[in-house]
Amino acid sequence: MGYIDRVIKYIEDNYKNEKEFVQSAKEILKSLNKVVEINPIYEKERILERIIIPDRVVMFKVMYEDDNGVNQVHNGYRVQFNNALGPYKGGIRFHPSVNLSILKFLGFEQIFKNALTGLPLGGGKGGSDFDPKGKSEIEIKRFCISFMNELYHYIGSDKDVPAGDIGVGQKEIGYLYGQYKKLTNQSLSGVITGKGVGYGGSLLRKEATGYGLIYFVERMLSQNNDTLKNKRVMISGSGNVALHAAKKAVELGAKVITISDSKGYIYDKKGVDLSLVSEIKEKRKGRIKEYLDYKKDAVYGEGSVYDANINVDIVLPCATQNEIDLDRVKNIINNGCILLAEGANMPLNNEAINYLLELDGFLYAPGKAANAGGVSVSGLEMVQNSQRYYFSSEQVDKMLKEIMYQIHDECINTCLMYGEKPTNYVFGANARGFVRVADAMIAQNL
Ligand code: NDP
Repeated sequence: MGYIDRVIKYIEDNYKNEKEFVQSAKEILKSLNKVVEINPIYEKERILERIIIPDRVVMFKVMYEDDNGVNQVHNGYRVQFNNALGPYKGGIRFHPSVNLSILKFLGFEQIFKNALTGLPLGGGKGGSDFDPKGKSEIEIKRFCISFMNELYHYIGSDKDVPAGDIGVGQKEIGYLYGQYKKLTNQSLSGVITGKGVGYGGSLLRKEATGYGLIYFVERMLSQNNDTLKNKRVMISGSGNVALHAAKKAVELGAKVITISDSKGYIYDKKGVDLSLVSEIKEKRKGRIKEYLDYKKDAVYGEGSVYDANINVDIVLPCATQNEIDLDRVKNIINNGCILLAEGANMPLNNEAINYLLELDGFLYAPGKAANAGGVSVSGLEMVQNSQRYYFSSEQVDKMLKEIMYQIHDECINTCLMYGEKPTNYVFGANARGFVRVADAMIAQNL
């Protein structure tokens, strides 16, 4: 049995209950065969065994009093996966599905994503099984305060820098950061990113993941002298990533025809009205179905948009993990899709990814490359915080675009270097990210 298969067997035997982590570790490791063959130092140094175990995992109790005066108790986590390139960096997710396996998969992905940005950032992730849906504003605030009461022991601007993710937007970041300040009597704004612009946040951080995704797609299309103009785009999700990706895609001439939430999807063949979606989802915290109250021609479907028969050119999954399996990916292809780029983390299972990789001429971008725009601007937020100086939105946008193009081009160059098909973005992203981290681990004996 080869080196990679032995390590995968170890992971399968030892982390049986961590389904998502095993899935993501297998996806990455399986793509690295050529890299470890050509560089025997990685096996000699046992780098795979070293990289798959987080530096540390912190688990804690988070208790808050609900509006009825009842104590509610949740699990809180921070996975500090790897700091070979810089402080641990990765978002905080509040969602009832959160468990150690999901946070380990997200943290593991984050190591390679952050390495691809070229910025000095390690990988981590955190969160809680608290569900903000249906909670009052004050309950959410109390929960954030309790969460930070524990988390603050472990983070720091040169140590571990959290940000938002599902269920954690700018409002929650504000509460978390404010509590950090109260507890430490320090105004280290670089300790958390995604802050509001008025108190240390970067312009365009909110938009960055979605915009970055579209810049990446633009660059992919340009390989075939193609553009986004008149492309029909299917998006899942209607949160931060989905809405900003949709906005930028429309700006560049595409037509976004679907959007979804965890209950169902909207298909509007005239093009989704994004300000209406923002009003329903961001401002009113409503359900996407309410779109029909305003747009009689649109169609609503229960369940996943990927089961629907809708003709599309480009698919951008921007909701959550494992949205697309083999049947769904085949459905998308049968409906005309030529390009799929991941806004979410691990929206495709491994069977669906392998199917796409076998298709001739299909363009597929994994999230660790395509959705790295968010963490890139978080990195720029940290730069601005240490310099006590702010960039204009034009400057941030320019740097974001440059980083996304650079990630894209590095993926292609890495493929060429290893004799892979240049559009194998999975290989390019995994190999480039891995080598950068592995070499830094060896150099520092981590
Ligand atoms: P938000 O909380 O803003 O939005 C999440 C969206 O996904 C909502 O529309 C939500 O629907 C939907 N959703 C959540 N869970 C499910 C589910 N189980 N099935 C179907 N739909 C679901 O999160 P973000 O937009 O920030 O994050 C979306 C994805 O992008 C995640 O995978 C995240 O890890 C990834 N990502 C985010 C980054 C960022 O900067 N925010 C950076 C890089 C990646 P509903 O409203 O019904 O809950």
